[in-house]
Amino acid sequence: MTGIFQKTIKQASQAARLINLDKKLIKRLITPQRVVSKKVIIKLDSGGNKTFSAYRVQFNNARGPYKGGIRFHPQVNLDEIKTLAFLMAIKCAVVGIPMGGAKGGVQLNPKELSFNELERLSRAWVRAFKNYLGPHQDVPAPDVYTNPQIMSWMADEYSRLVGKKTLAAFTGKPLTEGGSEGRELATGQGGIYILNEAVKKLGLKPKGVTMAVQGFGNVGYGLAQLAYQAGYKIIGLSDSQGGIMALNGKNMDPLKVMETKKEHGQIHACYCLGTVCDCVNYKKITNDELLKLKADILVLAALENQITGGNVNQVKAKIILELANGGIDPVVDGILKKRGVLVLPDVLANAGGVTVSYFEWRQNLKNEHWPESAVFAKLKKIMTDSFNEVWQTMEKYQATPRQAALMVGIKRITEAM
Ligand code: NAD
Repeated sequence: MTGIFQKTIKQASQAARLINLDKKLIKRLITPQRVVSKKVIIKLDSGGNKTFSAYRVQFNNARGPYKGGIRFHPQVNLDEIKTLAFLMAIKCAVVGIPMGGAKGGVQLNPKELSFNELERLSRAWVRAFKNYLGPHQDVPAPDVYTNPQIMSWMADEYSRLVGKKTLAAFTGKPLTEGGSEGRELATGQGGIYILNEAVKKLGLKPKGVTMAVQGFGNVGYGLAQLAYQAGYKIIGLSDSQGGIMALNGKNMDPLKVMETKKEHGQIHACYCLGTVCDCVNYKKITNDELLKLKADILVLAALENQITGGNVNQVKAKIILELANGGIDPVVDGILKKRGVLVLPDVLANAGGVTVSYFEWRQNLKNEHWPESAVFAKLKKIMTDSFNEVWQTMEKYQATPRQAALMVGIKRITEAM
């Protein structure tokens, strides 16, 4: 079976040929500049040692210092890290921020480590990769199962190693440690800016347009709340345990669903406002059912590979907002286009996160702290301009939105190269 990296660069190479890119340049574009694999050893609370496989792939820095998250996950492997590093380079270029693409990871189940062991692992990762890091070289951020606390340990370890406080070496830090206002909501907020533009292009208004959201974590919950406030009608929500759908034209306030989830430990089958629950107009559904709901918009905010050859023909949404990296298997993009489904691809739709990370880096370098209103005003302009650029490219080349986003990103990177 073809690996995800091969699939991704095949798709990128096709987009590069559409803009008549020279073969040699394509080869350089799809080749990572540096791939580092290390063994990281930490002391366990029990007294023994444990060794982990750790990676950092620096794909391309033609447009600025490498930028990209660090993932702690049992399935971390080099093929995945290379793919994500490449997509980070594309994403930064699509939204025009002066950073390159990288990604890192450690293969482990972080839930099996204690708080202190996680701290030792985070600091050991920095010691292992120190020579490749730095505010003007490579600036990591959180990703799956890494968070502001981990970034805070990492920035502290880096500062200790270089002998001076270097906040700009990592982003996604807590607000008290040089983090940016708005970072937590940035990906959802960026997604809403993109969605609003797309809805406008289709001649619609958010009010009453129906939406189903897969994934109820940082990104999915944030997006759902913002969408609800903007007037979209939320008719389906789900997390890893399953979901809830509204019947009979009902709407759902994600805040209320979250409150009920906290109380019951999972998204509840009934829709509750305080202690009053409606179990007639709402029902429990599986994740599979959520993907096939009759909603105008489907938001993917959970895992990769959710829309595949196996279910693409049952998707009823007219717009898919792909906030999860790789939420759609690239091979079904063509089918979705033929069926008239507008895909807002990950490299555009979820770029709000890295954009605010870039704002954090800039604030740290200049020793500034911007208010949330300034962060979101700058984010809105970047996301809206990027959407329009991708849209124009899509129309010019009769391409899919993903091909168009790849063309915009690839053109910018190769010009810089
Ligand atoms: P998270 O861990 O906070 O939330 C993930 C959510 O997905 C959880 O609610 C979980 O229950 C749910 N989930 C897991 N498996 C599921 C399944 N099979 N079906 C339905 N739901 C399932 O993660 P997050 O930060 O919200 O990230 C979500 C996605 O967005 C990831 O693909 C991530 O790579 C991508 N992303 C995140 C950011 C960011 O800023 N956090 C930026 C860019 C891309």
